[in-house]
Amino acid sequence: MSASLDTLVKEALATGRIAGLPEGHFIDGRFRPSQSGARMESFDPGRGTAFASFAAGAAADIDAAVEAGRRALTGRWRDMKPAERGRILQRAAALIGENADRLAVVESLDSGKKLAEAQGDVRGAARAFEYYAGACDKLQGDSMPLGRDHFGMTVHEPVGVTAHIIPWNYPISTAARGLAPALAAGCAVVAKPAEQTPLSALLLADLLREAGLPDGVCNVVTGTGREAGAPLVAHAGIDQITFTGSVATGIGVMQAAAPNVTQLVLELGGKSPVIVFADCQVEAALDGVMEAIYENAGQICSAGSRLVIEESLKEHFLAHLAERVNGLSLGHGLTNPGMGPVNSAAQLAKIEGMVAAAGARGARLHAGGARAEGAELGQGWFYQPTIIEPSASSDAIVQEEVFGPVLTVQSFASEEEALALANGTSYGLVAGIYTADFGRAHRLARDIDAGQIYINEYFAGGVEMPFGGNRLSGYGREKGLDGVKNYTRVKSIAARISR
Ligand code: ADP
Ligand code: MG
Repeated sequence: MSASLDTLVKEALATGRIAGLPEGHFIDGRFRPSQSGARMESFDPGRGTAFASFAAGAAADIDAAVEAGRRALTGRWRDMKPAERGRILQRAAALIGENADRLAVVESLDSGKKLAEAQGDVRGAARAFEYYAGACDKLQGDSMPLGRDHFGMTVHEPVGVTAHIIPWNYPISTAARGLAPALAAGCAVVAKPAEQTPLSALLLADLLREAGLPDGVCNVVTGTGREAGAPLVAHAGIDQITFTGSVATGIGVMQAAAPNVTQLVLELGGKSPVIVFADCQVEAALDGVMEAIYENAGQICSAGSRLVIEESLKEHFLAHLAERVNGLSLGHGLTNPGMGPVNSAAQLAKIEGMVAAAGARGARLHAGGARAEGAELGQGWFYQPTIIEPSASSDAIVQEEVFGPVLTVQSFASEEEALALANGTSYGLVAGIYTADFGRAHRLARDIDAGQIYINEYFAGGVEMPFGGNRLSGYGREKGLDGVKNYTRVKSIAARISR
């Protein structure tokens, strides 16, 4: 750990606070309070106590941010050469790197996640800006063969002002994967981070200003979904919405967007299988399953929350898995434990309720299954890493997203059965496959209804790979060059050129 990181961590752990955090919304190039003056508190999940306060925005603040975005669209930003846009994004990537220690400590304290994971998220955010910086001057159109008398071409123009509704599980990552391609495309943005984790988006906006982004191009309004999110997605001045969150809220956002016919990308929940065949490399599969469900305490839309295992390997695999799970230490995120807390008291209660209800329906626990308590955990929001074998695949614990460190177990005897189990929920976000059989891996990759398939390494890939869901997991793709397409629209220009 670098000296500066060590100092920041020690200070945050000793005082429960971080000095000099932004306090206002970031609108039109500077921090400003809510028009109502209202404020809210953000909590440190590792202690269950408030550690920072922030502006509680409402419709009037959203109006100001959208107006700033609309003004910015027609100013210096529109006239800037794409290559110069790219240089600004490149500088932003460098600044994220220079400020990585502070960003990671803030992200860890605000979300509860382990410091090492927060550091990974910050590196990923810098990488997103680096990746999309290179796209700015390559968003070229086509020319169409219309014959000698006509000329046809397409141009890719920015969609306008884009809204980004950000969840609490990956605050800086989700902000970066939406903002970087939107800015690369030449859009102006208004982001609304989750009320549980408002801080890193504000810090990011300020770094973008420092990188040279003109005022008004990037705006961040903090506050609740109901008070700040709802007026943003219903705003007539918004041209596109990227929403990451729960299915129920996503459906509400679609409805709110409908009267303005605003286009959307929805990245919603998941109940993703990790399919493990007996011929796999067992150690790699154990590593993969551990990461798939206990990283970020399972609060990942693409978590591998269902182990789907070949019967002949089941007993051996579960014994080793339970041993690893029981060895996971719990603690405050800043102390880099095996697993950190969950993000909120509400989330903890939800996890507790779902597991208890499954138990009452006859599910069998292989590990965990309760809230974690102990002097060293204080009032923090901790849940034990859990493995649970349901009474049936139709059980709610298999069908519904828990969004916590809870792995369900299902087993199969044939490839066909594995496929049926993999596709046996209403979600279609991710599937992991562990097998040494190349043909089988690719047959399943072909037939599984999911936006992404990970073969022999869960979470393989990076910003280069498009990401998104099918069915209840949403639609549209972020990341990769497909991710920029959300923020551009095609204009066709056809001309008669014959005399
Ligand atoms: P959770 O229930 O786990 O908090 P949500 O999907 O409700 O997940 O939250 C994801 C994001 O959506 C957060 O930034 C939240 O503030 C925002 N949000 C919640 N309700 C609305 C809404 N009605 N309109 C727009 N955004 C909302
Ligand atoms: Mg918080």
